[in-house]
Amino acid sequence: MFDTAIAGSLPKPAWLAETGKLWPQWQAEGAALAQAKLDATLLWIKTQEDAGLSVIGDGEMSRQHFVHGFLEQVAGIDRVNKVEMGIRNDRYKAMVPQVVAPLALQGRVHQAEARFLRAHTTRRVKFTLPGPMTICDTVADRFYGDRVKMAFAFAELLNQEALALEADGVDVIQFDEPAFNVYMDEAADWGVKALERAAQGLGTWSAAHRGRACKTAVHICYGYGIEANVQWKKTLGEEWRQYERVFPALAASRIDQVSLECFHSHVPPDLIALLAGKEVMVGVIDVASDDIETPEQVADTIGTALQFVARDKLIACTNCGLAPMRREVAEAKLAALVAGARLATERLARAAA
Ligand code: ZN
Repeated sequence: MFDTAIAGSLPKPAWLAETGKLWPQWQAEGAALAQAKLDATLLWIKTQEDAGLSVIGDGEMSRQHFVHGFLEQVAGIDRVNKVEMGIRNDRYKAMVPQVVAPLALQGRVHQAEARFLRAHTTRRVKFTLPGPMTICDTVADRFYGDRVKMAFAFAELLNQEALALEADGVDVIQFDEPAFNVYMDEAADWGVKALERAAQGLGTWSAAHRGRACKTAVHICYGYGIEANVQWKKTLGEEWRQYERVFPALAASRIDQVSLECFHSHVPPDLIALLAGKEVMVGVIDVASDDIETPEQVADTIGTALQFVARDKLIACTNCGLAPMRREVAEAKLAALVAGARLATERLARAAA
């Protein structure tokens, strides 16, 4: 059976936060909010286990936004006086915080939910962090005056938190770098190096103390299924070849796993071959449509990917996070993911017999 995992986020229950939003308001505060976050995490751990996923995530229940959740614990950022900035090469305008002083971590960022996740499942657990280049594309710089310098400053902080997550018992630490698909030359030039700085030393402690090295991953996607992304994708032409520029640099890096979009995307599947030697999280679930994939569709996507990646290196995954979706749609898509991975396994067994 193939490993199965989610890219990262899942829909927040209506009692935790506003639904259908990427930047929802919380429905509680203080201790009640802290409890509600963990209650929602437990709900999704159970749902992922029931669906049959082999790698379990926290669904990002404890963070308001995939980048700003991390930034909340970073000193050197003015979060009060936000400024408007075009992000992802002006695909959207957003009000973003400003970097105004040297960056430093004020303490642990995700300890509570990471330890909670570890305590409530015996399966392998994955935890996500934003990648340094994507963070730099989501804040305004009023201090460093140099994007690369600022990216490496964030990478050091990410590394501190990632090493602590490893000690918390996390098996896979994934950095989300959607910006790699937007600034391909910079990604190949320094983005992958900043990513490696964020992942530096991961695996050593867990190999010594748990006998199984924590793995590192990067998720590169075409974004959530929101309108701005749907419109952007229409401008990308028949074949989406963005990965072609970044994958060779990733193949040469120390990152263990790469998560990419496949199903319903215009990415030529043969680009997977550029990741020789890496584990590949193949996106078999479309996050831009509420239609539930059939097991046959999922198994077909896996079958196509298997032309370019060895079967023991393929992990069936979602194209991106499911945060803005309706809860029942996300639940059905998790079930479809596992049913499709099972069918793909059966097909291989039949072909071998
Ligand atoms: Zn994504």
